[in-house]
Amino acid sequence: MEAIEDIVIVGGGLAGLATALGLHRKGIKCLILESSPDLRTSGFGFAMWTNAWRAMDALGIGDKLREQHVLGKRLTILSTSGKILSDNSISGVRGKSGFQEFRCVKRDLLLKTLNNELPTDTIRYSSKIVLIEKDGNLKLLHLTDGSIIKAKVLIGCDGVNSVVAKYLGLKKLSFSGRLATRGLTEFETEHGFKPGFLQIIGGGHRAGVIPCSEKSVYWFLTWIPSEENKNVDQSTEKMKDYAIRNLKNANASEETLELIQRSEMGNVISTPLKYRSPFSLLSAKITEDNVCVAGDALHATTPELGQGGCMALEDSVVLARCLSEAIIGYNRGGDAEYERIQGALEKYAKERRWRSIKVITLSYIVGFIQQSANPFVRFLRERLLARVIANVYINFPSYDCGKL
Ligand SMILES: Cc1cc2nc3c(=O)[nH]c(=O)nc-3n(C[C@H](O)[C@H](O)[C@H](O)COP(=O)(O)OP(=O)(O)OC[C@H]3O[C@@H](n4cnc5c(N)ncnc54)[C@H](O)[C@@H]3O)c2cc1C
Repeated sequence: MEAIEDIVIVGGGLAGLATALGLHRKGIKCLILESSPDLRTSGFGFAMWTNAWRAMDALGIGDKLREQHVLGKRLTILSTSGKILSDNSISGVRGKSGFQEFRCVKRDLLLKTLNNELPTDTIRYSSKIVLIEKDGNLKLLHLTDGSIIKAKVLIGCDGVNSVVAKYLGLKKLSFSGRLATRGLTEFETEHGFKPGFLQIIGGGHRAGVIPCSEKSVYWFLTWIPSEENKNVDQSTEKMKDYAIRNLKNANASEETLELIQRSEMGNVISTPLKYRSPFSLLSAKITEDNVCVAGDALHATTPELGQGGCMALEDSVVLARCLSEAIIGYNRGGDAEYERIQGALEKYAKERRWRSIKVITLSYIVGFIQQSANPFVRFLRERLLARVIANVYINFPSYDCGKL
């Protein structure tokens, strides 16, 4: 006989762990099915803006992460000729809805912090969902090992290749025509980089350097592949060389070049940047019956605003709140509970649809303007658009997802 679970989350990345923690804080148990054999903590940094810190505070982990990450003070955007295009405060100043806060969080610390707050039996590893079927009010989840789990509520936090999004009929992701590489460099002593977010933009590239703590710095480079560089990701060594060469051409400082040189090889990879068409989200089914999607499974976006992970945290708080309102204080089971859950997921979808459309659209446009090598775009960017973009960086995070 198949096991019946109340709430199943597919995917134990940022969105899955945060949603599970939101539910746990409300006293609601869930099961995460994660395809990897253990927590996927490898990797880089997340630029975390005010909206993410509000969500982390709602989840009760904000202060733990603040202790380990420096406050980023300024967002400075330079052209490849070294000209300052914009320079703004990103922390400590009062924004549209309260004080702003920016820190670059190490991915492993964030995932471990979320995981440590969850009951130990929450995540089942090496559990990959391959098929979803309907069985009355339940969903049947088929795993690769042939086992089946029945779920009363199914939440897809399974990232860019989401099987849950596919089940809901969401369109496949589109390739943005851009690639990215990124790395994290650990120093034995203080690195000396200013706490803030430095970007160099133009000429088909966009690069950034952000200290996470006094001894670690995250960096990234995105570019538009051409005949000359389309095979650049054949090896991590070539990738590092490519990043250094381009940053040299963009007048990056010696310290920045050395930072990339010192990156752990295992931390350097190249990723094709994909996004969900914002037009398709206008009418897409974010939820149906007792199923919904969150995180990249819902709003996979190009990374120019550094908001994909922040949005996943927002989703988690809103979703946990909507579900808990439908579950706590009511009798369990039956059609009445099913209908309340349906209503809760519809409320969640309504709250998240426009914000999802907005993040994907703005990220794409910002990326286009920042990277374009077209002389006319460059002219506008250096005179006006870089400052407009700086305002987008500062205003988008002013959103408050509220408490659990
Ligand atoms: C280059 C780059 C830079 C970025 N920079 C930033 C940034 O600075 N700030 C920021 O906020 N965001 C950033 N992002 C976005 C951020 O990384 C993502 O938005 C975030 O990781 C999404 O989390 P998620 O949990 O939705 O997906 P994921 O982290 O991809 O997690 C999905 C999980 O589901 C599991 N899974 C998948 N399929 C199945 C299945 N069938 N069954 C079971 N498990 C499954 C996977 O193993 C994985 O663990 C960046 C992204 C890129 C590509």
